[in-house]
Amino acid sequence: MPLIENLLALYSVDKQVRGLTSRVESAKIYLNVQERQLKEIELEKAENSQQRKQHQAHIATIETETGSIDDRVSHLREDLNKAVNEKQYSAVLAEINTLKEQRKAFEDEELTEMASVETLEESAKDIQARLEERQTVLTSAAAELKTRETEIAEQLAELEVQREAAASIIPDDALSTFDSIADDYEGESMAAIDVEDLKRREYSCSSCSLRISLEALTTLLGSSENIVACGSCDRILYLKEDTRQAICPAK
Ligand SMILES: [Zn+2]
Repeated sequence: MPLIENLLALYSVDKQVRGLTSRVESAKIYLNVQERQLKEIELEKAENSQQRKQHQAHIATIETETGSIDDRVSHLREDLNKAVNEKQYSAVLAEINTLKEQRKAFEDEELTEMASVETLEESAKDIQARLEERQTVLTSAAAELKTRETEIAEQLAELEVQREAAASIIPDDALSTFDSIADDYEGESMAAIDVEDLKRREYSCSSCSLRISLEALTTLLGSSENIVACGSCDRILYLKEDTRQAICPAK
């Protein structure tokens, strides 16, 4: 068979392979998006937990501090009772008052820290809800992908064999041209030539509708062994049999 006909055979099976795999591809893309979003939420969760730990550690430090202030104050109260003169009494009392002020400052700080922890706990609930929701979506996205893969597996395996057979009889350079155009146009690698006006010898590319030069047409009519690309969209051009008959009735 001439090259163009072999390419048309490959084009047909290649389109079917692409059509079949595109359903799986879109399910894969969707699953990837879900996975990425889940990772972001997990990161947010880890950050939230880290921040809560820091605030809680600070609260623990404050409580140790206030505890030792309390111990110190109760010792001083004993000293207060044992004070032998007014001067000693006033000195101890002054120290107690200073400690009470320090304790008050610690208490204020602890309240601020506790408020921060509470805010973070609220966010943690929200994060957890979003995480669970995303996991549910992710699970169903993974199941959907599996279903689609299973659905097409058998048919795809068959088509892959056909595609390989069709590709094997095409010369390497023509095949790589074909593959690269097919990749660019999601399988739409070939385009028929349409007759616009037979008398005026006007022809166009059925894919992009732009004018085909007479030179390109002549090359195609002359031999089916040459690849002629559309000057505008780059697709590989071919002539349908009825078009060929219309242009060259003798053949
Ligand atoms: Zn074109």
